[in-house]
Amino acid sequence: MTGAEGADACDLRAAILAGERSAAETLEASLAAIEERDGELGAFLSVERDTARARAIELDRRRAADPGAAAGALFGVPVAVKANLCMEGVTTPCGSRMLANYRAPYTATCVRRLLDADAIVVGVTNMDEFAMGSSSEHSAFGPTRNPWDLTRAPGGSSSGSAAAVAAGMVPVALGSDTGGSVRQPAALCGVGGFKPTYGRVSRHGLIAFGSSLDQVGPLARSVRDLERILGVISGHDPLDATSLPLPPIEPERPDRPERLDGLRVGVAAEYVGADLDAEVRTAVEAALEKLEELGAEAVEVRLPHTVHAIPTYYVVATAEASSNLARFDGVGFGARTEGDGSLQGMFAATREGAFGDEVKRRILLGTFVLSEGYHDAWYGRALRVRALLRRDFERAFEKVDVICGPTSPTPAFPLGERAGDPLAMYASDTLTVPTSLAGLPAVSVPCGFASGAADSPLPVGLQIIGPALADARVLRVAAAFESATEHHRPAPTSAGDGR
Ligand code: GLN
Repeated sequence: MTGAEGADACDLRAAILAGERSAAETLEASLAAIEERDGELGAFLSVERDTARARAIELDRRRAADPGAAAGALFGVPVAVKANLCMEGVTTPCGSRMLANYRAPYTATCVRRLLDADAIVVGVTNMDEFAMGSSSEHSAFGPTRNPWDLTRAPGGSSSGSAAAVAAGMVPVALGSDTGGSVRQPAALCGVGGFKPTYGRVSRHGLIAFGSSLDQVGPLARSVRDLERILGVISGHDPLDATSLPLPPIEPERPDRPERLDGLRVGVAAEYVGADLDAEVRTAVEAALEKLEELGAEAVEVRLPHTVHAIPTYYVVATAEASSNLARFDGVGFGARTEGDGSLQGMFAATREGAFGDEVKRRILLGTFVLSEGYHDAWYGRALRVRALLRRDFERAFEKVDVICGPTSPTPAFPLGERAGDPLAMYASDTLTVPTSLAGLPAVSVPCGFASGAADSPLPVGLQIIGPALADARVLRVAAAFESATEHHRPAPTSAGDGR
């Protein structure tokens, strides 16, 4: 679409409102990019062409009829939505055979708010089954490929959302983050991804994985787009009992937004340990220097329980998952296999046939850690360690305003490399899981590149973590970093122009 290459959602909306392009033209550019690229990427599970087109026409008509009428914050912006967010009339398979044909009778609050802000949902994105994974390889519908190198994983579990934004098929997308599933794929695909403070974005209509950890978050190519989407989707929702009674997240508007004078940036030795990829380390060190150039002061902090985060997460998350996924029994939702004709046989045959190996592994683990006699030794202890992890952050945030470090210990890894080794896969989230357990806000923004194969560099992400409810501060630091650097600008070579 001429003149719109590299435009973000804010630019696109402004261009539509200025009459430079219609919502329909904007949508067609997005659909054309999907058409051109998604065959090889596999970012979308479905593209909702007809409903999206009808909606674009309706928005254009509304605009033509009354150009002065109020326009939503995402007027005409094409958005992709992860396949675990319910949408009335749309199949949301959650990456699973279990929900392959599932159509919710209602729309998730965050999606409803996007629509109320005049966004256009173009399609449903691929993901690891039930959001369990870090590479998309646990999707029942085949993997998504990383737009920077098709032989590599895009990260996960919001794999399709990250790849769709990175490849220019849509400017923004929604994902969900339980232990890193927005931030890690954002880092591996070279886009921004934000996980809000737990409770700031409604989980109503998000198919549950680990309810005390799950948060919906946006992926985008600019920080201001992340802010724009969060302003729309966050804020109290009476339909979610864990939703905080707070207004939507508002951007912080400092006097000199490009400077970070007086900001204390915590750097934790535990986040830049020996197992960090050398090129990731170089990129993150350069990012920290950049923050200092902008006026921030680096302060050493300790997060001593970090080493226990992965085992703790895999007890808490699997315990909650085993309970949440009990409802998929062939009766209320999803697939059914009759089995031997008995009720128990039907349950067993349905779950045996429709869940993939990783989901079964987690249900078994979660059931075990909650079982009588083991409950306190495993689940109870994990909760106590979770409290210690939270306290690590509280202590650190007595001394600093944000904590910065890498998002992922490595750049994008080859598809297949970790697929057969659950522990190697779990290690992908070493640096994102601690914040999830503590419920804190964190963003990943592009901060450089590692050398990939031949001519395809691999993006590296900087993670910026804030104390609870300091979502806007995290975004302000990200915005200052972005405006002082060019790392967010390069796009994978054959990216589309649907943004
Ligand atoms: N990769 C982590 C897991 O498999 C995190 C997933 C997520 O955040 N949804 O559990």
